[in-house]
Amino acid sequence: MQKIFLVSLLFFVGVALNLHAQKTFIHCGQLIDGKSDEVMREMTIIVEGDKIIKVEKGYAKATEQDKVINLKSKTVLPGLMDMHVHIEGETSRDNYIKRFTLNEADIAFNSTVYANRTLMAGFTTVRDLGGSGVNTALRNAINAGKVKGPRVFSAGKSIATTGGHADPTNGYKHDLMGDPGPTQGVINGKDEARKAVRQQYKNGADVIKITATGGVLSVAKDGSGPQFKMDELEAIVETAREYGMITAAHAHGAEGMKRAVEAGITSIEHGTMMTPDVMDLMKQKGTYYVPTISAGKFVAEQAKVEGYYPALVVPKALAIGPQIQKTFAEAYKRGVKIAFGTDAGVFPHGENGKEFGYMVEAGMSPMEAIKSATSVAAQMLKADDLGSVEVGKKADIVAVNDNPLENIHTMENVTFVMKGGEVYKSE
Ligand SMILES: [Zn+2]
Repeated sequence: MQKIFLVSLLFFVGVALNLHAQKTFIHCGQLIDGKSDEVMREMTIIVEGDKIIKVEKGYAKATEQDKVINLKSKTVLPGLMDMHVHIEGETSRDNYIKRFTLNEADIAFNSTVYANRTLMAGFTTVRDLGGSGVNTALRNAINAGKVKGPRVFSAGKSIATTGGHADPTNGYKHDLMGDPGPTQGVINGKDEARKAVRQQYKNGADVIKITATGGVLSVAKDGSGPQFKMDELEAIVETAREYGMITAAHAHGAEGMKRAVEAGITSIEHGTMMTPDVMDLMKQKGTYYVPTISAGKFVAEQAKVEGYYPALVVPKALAIGPQIQKTFAEAYKRGVKIAFGTDAGVFPHGENGKEFGYMVEAGMSPMEAIKSATSVAAQMLKADDLGSVEVGKKADIVAVNDNPLENIHTMENVTFVMKGGEVYKSE
């Protein structure tokens, strides 16, 4: 009896000390690690638990108790990171009526479908730049292993001024409009700005998103004018910083962008009418540009479909949509830091990989486009454990069939997905 007790005690101590931890050996035909400019050939990544513990040349031999994943015919990359998605919803003809027909539970169930699709497309991390708060709950459910999806850095609800792009009652009839305030993410003046940031922090947000100018898809006339005063922007950026949160500004017009950059915003989203002096200011301040070319292309195309968007939206979509890729080309040439982002949700989730092709088409090298979606994105998020295939990083690893330096469109067809050491897709 005592002997049995001792043996089982030793067994449990062994488990606790992780004496027989299984390792996973990933044999990579080609490896792009997210940091180096080189494509390495015949490499092995060794994963233990949720971390990368070794990266070595050649196909390392595993012991019998270890697992081997054969990706010898593939190009292996760090898990991809999309810095601008809206995981709660997706474009459709009846999108504008959904705020009256969908319950929070409906939104939550839908979001699990979009999250899964995003992960299967190779995106192991996303930054959700604005929803109802379901985005934050989804993050928690994914982290707890209850739902399959990418790591989510959530902005909760976007912050706007009255009538601004993220005012939730835009376009409503007057008796439904009410007067939303900082708790609903609508601010006027610097005190309300601080309160709105603190409210998002309290709700569990990781990042603060503001709508610095009007937007394409909101039911409002103008998409380009500035919608915040300087003291409001400064209050937001400063308060977010104090709570350890980065900030992102949706912006189409140059003046709104310039103010946000001057206030110290972390990233400019879309940046449609970005002027050379704004680009230079961004370089000087170290501001990131998240282009979302995919969204621009999609809305410009859909605007031609009769009745797809409300009448107020159509001219904005036609004008702003095609401009983003041109602005991206200019900003890239001028040396602005670019972090990969698509605005998925404005177009179907899972098609995030198309952005790589649009970036390369506009003059960026495939390797730089890949870095913008890996190490550069991680840097912007201040997520030291993500964004590259290196010892000590989280084992977020994907693979594609071709060499993306020769065929960038292979990024639209990710065939292997590992997140945190767990395999979610394998062909
Ligand atoms: Zn967006």
